[in-house]
Amino acid sequence: MQSPWDYPDFDDHEVVHFVTDRASGLKAIIAVHSTHLGPGAGGVRFWHYADSASAISDALRLSRGMSYKNAMAGLPLGGGKAVILADSARTKTPEMLAAYGRAVDGLSGNYVTAEDVGMNVADLVAVSKQTKYVSGLPVAAGAVGGDPGPHTSYGVYLGVRAAVKRALGKDSLSGLHIAIQGAGSVAGGLARLAAKDGAKISVADIDAARAGKLANEVGGATVDPASILTLEADVLSPCALGAILTEESIAALRVPVVAGGANNQLATPADGDRIHARGILYAPDYVINAGGIINVASEYLGDADEAGVKAKIEQIPGRLDTIWDESAATGRNPAAVADTMAQRLIGR
Ligand code: NAD
Repeated sequence: MQSPWDYPDFDDHEVVHFVTDRASGLKAIIAVHSTHLGPGAGGVRFWHYADSASAISDALRLSRGMSYKNAMAGLPLGGGKAVILADSARTKTPEMLAAYGRAVDGLSGNYVTAEDVGMNVADLVAVSKQTKYVSGLPVAAGAVGGDPGPHTSYGVYLGVRAAVKRALGKDSLSGLHIAIQGAGSVAGGLARLAAKDGAKISVADIDAARAGKLANEVGGATVDPASILTLEADVLSPCALGAILTEESIAALRVPVVAGGANNQLATPADGDRIHARGILYAPDYVINAGGIINVASEYLGDADEAGVKAKIEQIPGRLDTIWDESAATGRNPAAVADTMAQRLIGR
């Protein structure tokens, strides 16, 4: 049997906790990758895994991703992530959430939890009855916190503008064609901001009604989800799924810029080289999509008001420029450059 140290995704994680609560049936893994910059922060995923090895890999991979993301966002936070292993019926009980909250509390702030796939605000409120090491809770109107989506969209919009400036020498999105994959929270915010600047929007979503509604709102067009990655445009903005940039899809891209909010866009590290080799400017996903975590962090740390959060998000274009500068100077692809910068920041 493989020990956690032998997993390909094991990256000298500081601690990995295996949590069992027999009374509630809770089975969870809390992985803290790095606390070099602060408490390991990242969401908890509630997911039915095919086997426990997949859950361990997910916790290891996602917690390392949070270390990189938080470091590159300039936050005083390390990286951590939890996964709750759901049964096939995805039974989630108050007792289970309470047990999870107690487990987080037992780590005395070494890990700070928040929402991720399969967990909602109400679940986090239940967890918060057991521990103060939680973020992403409902906030009073005007206070910092709440839905990270609009903040992510704002950062992505600023990142798209920076990419357009660099790749096309344009100061505005006016008259440019932006192809957006997804019509959800992040995509919607981006489409509205870009359309306000006079960009032409094409949007694709597997939920056709959702795509139609957004296209209508921003005066854009809908595109078949199967064609969005091969559309000729000025910018492709992936705002739906991960692992969409593969050897095959990269070869078929017809854009000079790829800059979007989706997590883990590159299917493999080699795809970072492939997109770079095609001369397409790529914005590393965890750098451009950090607006949401910046907002969540300020809610937890209580260190910024709305203007302060906005100012931090407005640092995203500068970070992207630093990455692209180093990429241009060294010939390394921007995703690899970002990883190296993040590793340096967390002392690895
Ligand atoms: P969302 O659920 O609101 O929207 C995602 C949309 O993508 C949905 O409308 C869905 O139907 C669509 N979709 C799924 N598969 C598709 C496909 N094959 N083609 C086209 N559309 C497809 O999610 P969101 O919050 O907007 O997040 C979008 C992406 O951004 C995700 O990868 C997420 O991990 C990432 N992200 C989100 C945030 C945030 O603050 N919400 C922060 C960082 C990263």
